[in-house]
Amino acid sequence: MNRRQFLKSALFTTIGTVVLAACKKVATDTKNLIDKVFTKKYKNLDISVVGFGMMRLPQKDGEPDIEKTQSMVDYAIEHGINYFDTAWFYHNGKSELATGTVLSKYPRKSYYLADKMPLRILKDKTEVIPIFEEQLKKCQTNYFDFYLTHNINKREWKVLKECNVYEQLLEKKKEGKIKYLGFSIHDTPELLEEVVNTYKWDFVQLPINPIDWTTVDAKRQYDIATKAGIPIVVMNPLKGGQLSTLTEKAAEILKAEKPSASPSSWSLRYSASLPNVFVVLSGMSELEQVIDNVKTFINFKPLSQNEQAVLSKAINVYNSSGAISCTYCQYCTGCPVGIDIPKNFLIYNQYKSNNRKDRFIIAYETIKEENRADKCINCGICKNKCPQKLDIPSLLKEVSNVYKSLK
Ligand code: SF4
Ligand code: SF4
Repeated sequence: MNRRQFLKSALFTTIGTVVLAACKKVATDTKNLIDKVFTKKYKNLDISVVGFGMMRLPQKDGEPDIEKTQSMVDYAIEHGINYFDTAWFYHNGKSELATGTVLSKYPRKSYYLADKMPLRILKDKTEVIPIFEEQLKKCQTNYFDFYLTHNINKREWKVLKECNVYEQLLEKKKEGKIKYLGFSIHDTPELLEEVVNTYKWDFVQLPINPIDWTTVDAKRQYDIATKAGIPIVVMNPLKGGQLSTLTEKAAEILKAEKPSASPSSWSLRYSASLPNVFVVLSGMSELEQVIDNVKTFINFKPLSQNEQAVLSKAINVYNSSGAISCTYCQYCTGCPVGIDIPKNFLIYNQYKSNNRKDRFIIAYETIKEENRADKCINCGICKNKCPQKLDIPSLLKEVSNVYKSLK
């Protein structure tokens, strides 16, 4: 290469480097320009106040749709959502696998991952660690930031103690495989009090939403955790989706106050406004929900007094509609005669929301005959399984009677 060729080559290299640096800067600036959701402090961590619940993922052929889930998670992460919550039971064991797959492209330290010990399936103490290790593998990680004993109720509390679950998980915490150890609970304030006073916990996951706040002791539970100094993760903030639709009349009240805000955004902000709550989980199924949640929590502000009053008015109107307080959690499945309890309650609630008799009749008749409300034999097996303490047999009778009266 002669001097002329050398200078030409050097000039192009320099121009190339400058252009590349400029492009990188534009890319970085663009990235920095993307608005991020509000974060709250948990110890020294900055956690997005809205967390991604991986229990209602979009589905394809009966399994989580990885392609759609990936684009939802990408959008969430791009906008600052950094808390992901999965569990053994979600999507029949496939949620943990899907979570591991879609998060694997991101550096492990860029997000917080929560998983749970499935107390319900434990037969003895030797099963705890193998299940935990399997969960790590399924999630493609070597530690969980947040790890919970899942869904404590009277039966599971006994299992937790008999199988030394806490003690074994504490060992995992000492090994660094669990950063923070907590529990989720769907039971009475009395049991919550006992659990809180028996072991030392880093956090608790509680069902909190504007309906449960007074009707299912959510306020009392919040107060117990707060008094014990235990920060709260909120689950079920939309009461199984009921608060994302409400009834037409209730939704109109919210719309009149804030035309661009979805009903979901009101209830999510309600829980996020509570000082001892550091993350509110939203089980997202569509990209539109991720976009709406991001919109809600960018520039998040707690509900004002006026907004609290408006929401409370809408909830009163909704409650007076006679909808069943079912969250469609499916904990009551396993009916000996095969009644599809959540499905029957869902179509009943839709009827209470839209008052469309024709739609209710069609929906009821699309349920297989053997799964319909009128086939309940009132054996009572399902009653103790319902975290909402619903009198399922009586409510099924009501669904069946309404069908008969409209037919
Ligand atoms: S009470 Fe009715 S719905 Fe419940 S388990 Fe028995 S038959 Fe099934
Ligand atoms: S009836 Fe109770 S247990 Fe069954 S889906 Fe509804 S809330 Fe869950």
